[in-house]
Amino acid sequence: MKAILITGGGSGIGRAVAQLFSQRGWRVGLADLDAAGLVDTAAMLPTERTTSHVMDVRAPEDWEEVLAQFAAASGGRLDVLFNNAGVAVGGAFGAESLDVLDRGIDVNLKGVVYGARLAYPYLAATPGSCLLNTASAAGIYGTPGAAVYSATKFGVRGLTEALDAEWAAEGIRVRSLMPGFIDTPLLKANVSGSNRNVRETVIEAGLELTPVEVVAEAAWAAVHGDRVHTLVGKTARRLAFASRWMPGGLRKRMRAGRV
Ligand code: NAD
Repeated sequence: MKAILITGGGSGIGRAVAQLFSQRGWRVGLADLDAAGLVDTAAMLPTERTTSHVMDVRAPEDWEEVLAQFAAASGGRLDVLFNNAGVAVGGAFGAESLDVLDRGIDVNLKGVVYGARLAYPYLAATPGSCLLNTASAAGIYGTPGAAVYSATKFGVRGLTEALDAEWAAEGIRVRSLMPGFIDTPLLKANVSGSNRNVRETVIEAGLELTPVEVVAEAAWAAVHGDRVHTLVGKTARRLAFASRWMPGGLRKRMRAGRV
């Protein structure tokens, strides 16, 4: 039985991916900082092929313990590590506290790097394995109002491309998801300098919110396909097109405050 370990499995995208892979017969390991979220996700999945692990992706020792626990349950297999846990870091950069910036970097970038590095022996020991990292449309063009979030997602994109090449000879596939705006609790983060959250701002700007189920199917396609990056949603596809074919126009729009 194939086995996937999912960080951020207690909510949003991680939960939807857990449900889809589980429906398709996979063993699922759920990892998250949020114990209550883990309980809720686990209740949606068959007990005999689901394990739950409270962990902080910022802690290497948590990674070591969770990877060992998961491998014990899966008979040593790690077909996919879904390196997905992340936090929103939004707001005027000049007003952001260093603590908030550090947390964004630690969870969204260092957590992903630790996962990739510490899962490496398990991925290398599982033929046809895949590391799937959640980047973002914010990793396509720098996002004003979310500069550090964007920087971490560019980091995840770089890590993905580098390891895709570096691990090719060993048969470990490395992929990223680049979602636009996905309807999850992450978008409840407040937009600083306003009394609205990201979700409300997205709707007001006339942009689309993509359901999590679409991301889950994209994750399935990414794991089973050959693309290094998988764009999800209209905003992500539009940004990728504009950054490639009309970078000057895109820069102008960004500077004018339009996505
Ligand atoms: P979410 O808030 O629903 O889920 C994120 C999960 O990560 C939560 O369960 C949270 O507890 C967990 N988490 C946070 N910090 C953690 C830590 N230190 N250790 C372990 N777990 C931790 O959000 P989501 O939208 O499902 O986000 C999943 C990923 O998708 C993130 O990397 C996010 O940046 C990315 N993403 C989201 C969107 C969007 O619009 N929602 C768009 C692009 C990319």
